Amino acid sequence: MSESRLREEICRYGRSLFERGLTPGSSGNISLRLDDGGWLVTPTNASLGFLDPARLARLDAAGTLVSGDKPTKEIPLHNALYESRASARAIVHLHSTHAVALTMLPEIDPRAALPPMTPYYLMRAGQTALLPYYRPGDPAVADAIRGLAGRYSSVLLANHGPVVAGDSLEAAVFATEELEETAKLYLLLRNLNPRYLSPAQVGDLVKNFDLDLPDHEHGHDHSE
Ligand SMILES: [Zn+2]
Repeated sequence: MSESRLREEICRYGRSLFERGLTPGSSGNISLRLDDGGWLVTPTNASLGFLDPARLARLDAAGTLVSGDKPTKEIPLHNALYESRASARAIVHLHSTHAVALTMLPEIDPRAALPPMTPYYLMRAGQTALLPYYRPGDPAVADAIRGLAGRYSSVLLANHGPVVAGDSLEAAVFATEELEETAKLYLLLRNLNPRYLSPAQVGDLVKNFDLDLPDHEHGHDHSE
């Protein structure tokens, strides 16, 4: 896909996410890794609903701004996830309500923030890690993401929001939507004793769809 087409895709997905209320105001950001090793990144203080393809920040492989507006200040988040997941081509970060709400509940397992509720959550978002709260812009959050060693494509930042990597922009957007909807389901069903997928049902999905879940290791190596 040409760079101009990719620029339009970022704006189109950004508007779609914004218009569905998945990230308010000027929150949320999107980045995409280009074939030359550089990136396209949404600008700082820009609403995802009103992006201009020509003003997206264009960074070179060293992270230097080549053209466009100043990139989001949450770029260390993106950088850390790209560094630890070589397969990542795009990253979406939102301040989506249900995913943020989930991070504040006392019972959440930081290595599996959501139970296996639906096949599509597992197939698109995998298993989700929860990192503790960091002040926005705190460089320590990047270290925390690196600490996950690339085992998670979806990460929740406590009291803040999800950061999700995909091997395409569409994959990252769809995974973020699946994570948000699954967080919503969890909140709807909390304390109602719901039946989640059984370990055997999860194992069957892992096998049939070649899923790469941290709790179901089967030989994948993200460092490739
Ligand atoms: Zn944020």
